[in-house]
Amino acid sequence: MRIAVLSDIHSNLVALDAVLADIGSVDAVWHLGDVVGYGPEPDAVVERLAGIGAVGVRGNHDAAAAGGPEIEAFNPEARRAMEWTRKRIAPVTRDWLAALPERLIVDDASLVHGSLRDPTWEYVTSAAIAKASLDVLTTPVGLHGHTHVPMAWVRAGSRVRGAAAGTDARLSYDGRPSLLNPGSVGQPRDGDPRASYLVLDADARVASWHRVAYDIEAVVAAMRSVELPIRLAERLRHGL
Ligand code: ZN
Repeated sequence: MRIAVLSDIHSNLVALDAVLADIGSVDAVWHLGDVVGYGPEPDAVVERLAGIGAVGVRGNHDAAAAGGPEIEAFNPEARRAMEWTRKRIAPVTRDWLAALPERLIVDDASLVHGSLRDPTWEYVTSAAIAKASLDVLTTPVGLHGHTHVPMAWVRAGSRVRGAAAGTDARLSYDGRPSLLNPGSVGQPRDGDPRASYLVLDADARVASWHRVAYDIEAVVAAMRSVELPIRLAERLRHGL
């Protein structure tokens, strides 16, 4: 079984479509939240994911878009983009976002947005934080996003090792409890502006990371035209 794992799409339909075209044939698409927020096309992104039968979890931006108090914790630009998103989205989009669970176990994988310890907010940015999630992992692999940085955290004996997952990185998680981050489709933050995603070969228990270029200028122009914060548009050019 071949599964595409997407995270932090952030209303970036151009990036999502580039990724879906690049993936080719898969048996399932899973997403790890932050489907909306920041970008210009929340309704179209949700419609696309719903159309392909993607299953997944709720991120902090999805919770805020559905009306949750999470918006109070946003920085000023994220908040402006979220207020725009709230006004703009159709009821069907809001309902779809509101129905996303905080966590989901599918087949051999545990899906969350932030971490297994705090699925909405915790950023897994160190081996100690990753270990707290691996300590409560009940499936062979955990999948998370939120940092927008592709990473693998792997238990090795009593220790946890982290490794940045560069282009075409591969990892066997067979017999090695792992917490994997696909990076971000719609707003990468590892210095590479290309959309990032992960593919799981669930039978062999091998993960592979992939990058795909998309028309960033089209998204920047769309964000300008609807008056989303300009800094949120310009950061897409730099992958930061
Ligand atoms: Zn995000």
